[in-house]
Amino acid sequence: MTQTLFREDAYQAETEATVLSSEPRGIALDRTVFYAQGGGQSGDKGTLLLDDETLVPIVSTIYDTDRATILHVPAAGAALPRPGARVIARIDWDLRYKRMRAHTALHLLSVVAPYPVTGGSVGDAEGRLDFDSGEAVLDKADIEGRLNELIARDAAVSQSWIADSELEANPSLIKTMSVKPPMGTGRVRLIAIEGLDLQPCGGTHVARTGEIGRASVTGIEKKGKINRRVRIALGAL
Ligand SMILES: [Zn+2]
Repeated sequence: MTQTLFREDAYQAETEATVLSSEPRGIALDRTVFYAQGGGQSGDKGTLLLDDETLVPIVSTIYDTDRATILHVPAAGAALPRPGARVIARIDWDLRYKRMRAHTALHLLSVVAPYPVTGGSVGDAEGRLDFDSGEAVLDKADIEGRLNELIARDAAVSQSWIADSELEANPSLIKTMSVKPPMGTGRVRLIAIEGLDLQPCGGTHVARTGEIGRASVTGIEKKGKINRRVRIALGAL
């Protein structure tokens, strides 16, 4: 089992860790700052620095079949550390920060377009949500304007934990019908955007909405009779 430091502090870019197991399909550490693929967000890239200064490039991060151990997928042919070795695990921060900004922007998009979310994807400074918007007409300029208004409020983003049973008693907290919040460990993390949004989420977020920067709505597509896909992109900081 891997301790998930990225859930406590998304801004922690590196950590010391101990290798639990090491195979070409993935290197398991006792703790990590690498976000593992899930919730529509790709796994982090980065490096593991070994004692002898060898750098192992990590091309992706995934959960093992137990869903509790995180595997750091090394580049093909990379040297593998031995189990028990101490390493320094460091994420590609520029990439992660783009995803944190995009992910947080999608929370705000779900406020601006308050419809059930049926799917979503977090890219690098871009992302999309699919809405079951019924008969509502989604207007690109209107959504973009209101999204940037919320970003400009620079609202604080914070997290807290509740028991699975509390979430089950308050199912209205779940906006995403296709992406179930990470349950099963007995507790669920809630992400609050001050005065704007509260929902269970296992992803990585910025600390204030102002960090998102300028957002554009790059497309609204029909994905079925009542389903609309809204794509956003963020400007460079
Ligand atoms: Zn989130």
